[in-house]
Amino acid sequence: MGAQLDSVHRSIINAAARMGLDPVFVERMTDAKERIRLRFSPKLSDGMAHNIIGYIVLHSMTLGPAKGGIRMAGDVNEDQIAALATEMTLKTSLIGVPFGGGKSGIAMNPHLLQKDDKEAVIREFTRAACRHIGPEIYIPAPDMGTSEIEMGHIKDCISHGDGFATTRGCYVTGKPVVLGGIPGRREATGYGVMLVIRAAAEPIGLNLGKSRMVIQGFGNVGSVVAQCALEQGVTITAISDASGAAWNPDGLDIPALSRHAKQAGTVAGFEGGKPIDPDSIYGIECDIFVPAATGGVINSGRAAVVKAKIVAEAANGPTLSDADDLFQARGIVVLPDILCNAGGVFVSYLEYTQETQRGQWTLDEVNHRLETRMTAKFGEVMRHSVNQGLPLRAAAVEMALAHLYEGYVSRGLLA
Ligand code: NAD
Repeated sequence: MGAQLDSVHRSIINAAARMGLDPVFVERMTDAKERIRLRFSPKLSDGMAHNIIGYIVLHSMTLGPAKGGIRMAGDVNEDQIAALATEMTLKTSLIGVPFGGGKSGIAMNPHLLQKDDKEAVIREFTRAACRHIGPEIYIPAPDMGTSEIEMGHIKDCISHGDGFATTRGCYVTGKPVVLGGIPGRREATGYGVMLVIRAAAEPIGLNLGKSRMVIQGFGNVGSVVAQCALEQGVTITAISDASGAAWNPDGLDIPALSRHAKQAGTVAGFEGGKPIDPDSIYGIECDIFVPAATGGVINSGRAAVVKAKIVAEAANGPTLSDADDLFQARGIVVLPDILCNAGGVFVSYLEYTQETQRGQWTLDEVNHRLETRMTAKFGEVMRHSVNQGLPLRAAAVEMALAHLYEGYVSRGLLA
C-alpha cells in the first residue's frame, strides 16, 4: 500500500477507535466503493497512437455523487488516486457539501506533451471514462496537471457526444466561466487556504503582517496562496516548484516572480532570488510553511528540519503519519488538508448549484460564501480540537466521520 493511502487510513482508524464507530463503517471508509482502471490510446502529433493508463476511484457516494479532481502526472498510480479519493470523502463531509469522494488520474507527465497533445489525451480519457462521469455519479474538477482548459474540453466532449450544445446537468466543475463555470473557482482553493491561515493566526498569536512564509509549489494553488498572503502583508521568502526554487530573505517580489514563471514555465532562473535546491525548502526558517505541490512529500526526516509555527496543507496529503506525529511533538500546528484546501470543492458545489438551477453568481457572492464557510468551519474544528484535546487533523477527521456515519445510518445502510 502507498504511504499516502496508509497515512489517511491510519487517521480514519485512529479516529474511529476513539469514537467507537461500527467496524463495518470503518471497513467501508478504508476500502473504496469502486476502483476503475482504464486503458486508452490517443493518437498524438507524432502520428502514433500511445497507450495511456488512467484510474477513477469512487470512494464513497453516501452523501452525494463522488467529487474530486483529475490529476495528470508521471507518478500517478492506483493507490495514490485511492488515497486522494478517500481524502475527498472526508473533505466534502467536513466542509458540509452534499458530495461523496472520488478522484481520477492519468499516468502521464503533461509537461512532456505538446499543447495539442494534452487536449487529445484529455478528450480520449473523457471518451474512455464517460460512463463513470455524470452529475449523479462522479463530477471531476482540476487537480495537479489539469486546469479549467481541460475542464472546458471535457464539457465539450460530453455535450458533443450527446449531440447537445451543453451537458444535461453539471458533469464537471472548474470550467471556464464562459462555459458555465463560476467566478472565483480557479482562485478558491488558494484563497480558502489563506482564509484558514488567517483564522488560525489569531489563536496562535501570529501577526500576519510580521510573518514570513515559504511555499512549495507555484501552480494554480501555490501562486494564489502567494498572492493572497501578499495582500495580508506576509513576506514570502522562498518558493519552489518541480524544476527549481528561489529564495530571498527580504521577501520575493511575487508579481515579478509570477511574470517570470508564466514566461519560463518555472520559478527557476528568477533573478529576484537566490537559486536553491528545491529540497532545501523544508529547512528555511519561516512562520508559515505551505506545501502546495504533491502528496507524501513530508516524511519524518523532512519534518525534523521544518522551522515554522504553522504548516498549512494546501496540497492533498503532503504529510505522512510519522511526520505528523513529529510536528505535533514539536508543537508545530498543522492545518489539515481536508480543512485547509476545501475552498475549491466548496466553490465547486456553488458551481454545481449554479448549473443545476441555471443561476448566475457574482464573484462577490462566491467569495462571501467561501469566507463565511471556511472561517466558520475552522472555528468548529478548533473548538472540537480544544474540547477533546486533539490536534486539528484528528479533530477534523472525527467531525468528518461523524457526519458521514450519520449519512450511512440515515440511508439505512448501517444500524
Ligand atoms: P498545479 O499542477 O497547478 O501545480 C503544481 C505545482 O507543484 C507546480 O508548480 C509544480 O512544478 C510543483 N511541484 C510538483 N512536484 C513538486 C515537487 N516535488 N517539489 C516542488 N514542487 C513541485 O497543481 P495545483 O492545482 O496547484 O495543485 C497543487 C496541490 O493542491 C495538489 O496536491 C492538489 O491535489 C491540491 N489541491 C488542488 C486543488 C485545485 O483546485 N486545483 C484543490 C484542492 C487541493
